[in-house]
Amino acid sequence: MKQKKSWYEKDKAYVWHHMKPYQKDGHAMVVKEAQGAWITDIEDNKYLDAMSGLWCVNAGYGRKELVEAASQQLAAMPFYPLTNSHTPAIELAEKLREWLAGSYRIVYANSGSEANETAFKIARQFHRQHGNPHKYKIISRYRSYHGSTLATLAATGQAQRKYLYEPLPEGFIHVRAPDSYRKPEGFDDKAWNLACAQVMEDAILFERPETVAAVIMEPIITGGGILIPHESYVKQVEKVCRKHDVLLIIDEVICGFGRTGKKFGFLHYGIKPDIVTMAKGITSGYLPLAATAVREELYESFQQTGENDHFRHVNTFGGNPAACKLAVRNLELMEQENLCQRAEEKGAAIKKALMKLFDHPHVGDVRQKGLLIGIELVKDKDTKEPVDDSYSTEVVQACKKHGLIAGKNADTVSGYSNIINIAPPLSLTDDDAAFISTVMKNVFFTEKLG
Ligand code: PMP
Repeated sequence: MKQKKSWYEKDKAYVWHHMKPYQKDGHAMVVKEAQGAWITDIEDNKYLDAMSGLWCVNAGYGRKELVEAASQQLAAMPFYPLTNSHTPAIELAEKLREWLAGSYRIVYANSGSEANETAFKIARQFHRQHGNPHKYKIISRYRSYHGSTLATLAATGQAQRKYLYEPLPEGFIHVRAPDSYRKPEGFDDKAWNLACAQVMEDAILFERPETVAAVIMEPIITGGGILIPHESYVKQVEKVCRKHDVLLIIDEVICGFGRTGKKFGFLHYGIKPDIVTMAKGITSGYLPLAATAVREELYESFQQTGENDHFRHVNTFGGNPAACKLAVRNLELMEQENLCQRAEEKGAAIKKALMKLFDHPHVGDVRQKGLLIGIELVKDKDTKEPVDDSYSTEVVQACKKHGLIAGKNADTVSGYSNIINIAPPLSLTDDDAAFISTVMKNVFFTEKLG
């Protein structure tokens, strides 16, 4: 026990945790092992990790194939920059094109934030090289999250994450995202979603199309509350972008790699993005890796410019050979085990079991696409006023008491920190899926909440 205590003491003394205030009482959970969908802390407590780490361990923990792929590559050739090339980067680019079902060029990075930054740079440079030097603005949606760097924070639509770091880079405009649970009276889902797509077009028109470079959006807003749009919204946004010569960047950092039941989230909606950004699930979180996939025609147009105008961008560690090799193996494994289909089936089964939660006075909505599940908590089902942050925090704590790591969205300032997130590894067993729904029911119907 003494040794365990010293880990907690050292952790408190030396590590600055993400997204957490300094904990005077208590301590962070210190995890030592993980297998399948389960993690074990240093006190040997086991939890089903229904957040896949941070929405990323899609193939599950403890996959020896992935470890071997990386370690063999580290022994053979651990690093070479992509100012030249190496075989794992080529292999992965080929595989990603297959998964994207289209011709895309792959630019590598290490994190979702970098992948989105890269997309913004490409969008701005593209327009500049096509005689539109003033097309620089990026439009995104309120409630979205696109990263922790200054430009990706500027694109993020959650005020609480941003205000302490202002001024942020200029040229980022936000519009309302469709929240199908909160449609105004008189609108059906499709009409409300189309009205929100019109808001996007209005923003482009008011800003002037000749100043707008790109729209960035997740197919489904994830960290901002699992907001699943009607199909018509995504299609209409694509149409609006084409009409005004605005590039469409789809952020697949969470939605990609089977999370929503397809290889990428945008594949649900029959659209063809100009740029697709990805990270997290690309390696199932085992090593840092990210990519910005750019439509071939955009890449070609960069080749037709003068020597001084090529893409002036370098990323030392982006596309590390071991990470690329591991990613190739990860995607093969997902194919062999049909993990996309598994996400679709298991997600639907969990949602079905969770319908019982609607009997609880504070469960306003249960939304699901694949293994991306959101439970929206409200004070009153008629007014839909969100519960206080303390209530959703209690739910997450009660889940942990029952052996389940669930998440919740973080934007307490906007009032929307009331959505419980469930996004387990896609490889979860049937027993794991049953465990998740049993714990959720026990939490809502046997725990004293609020
Ligand atoms: N985009 C989305 C949708 C994300 O959820 C995240 C991270 N949670 C990012 C971008 C940024 O990724 P990273 O933390 O790897 O920089």
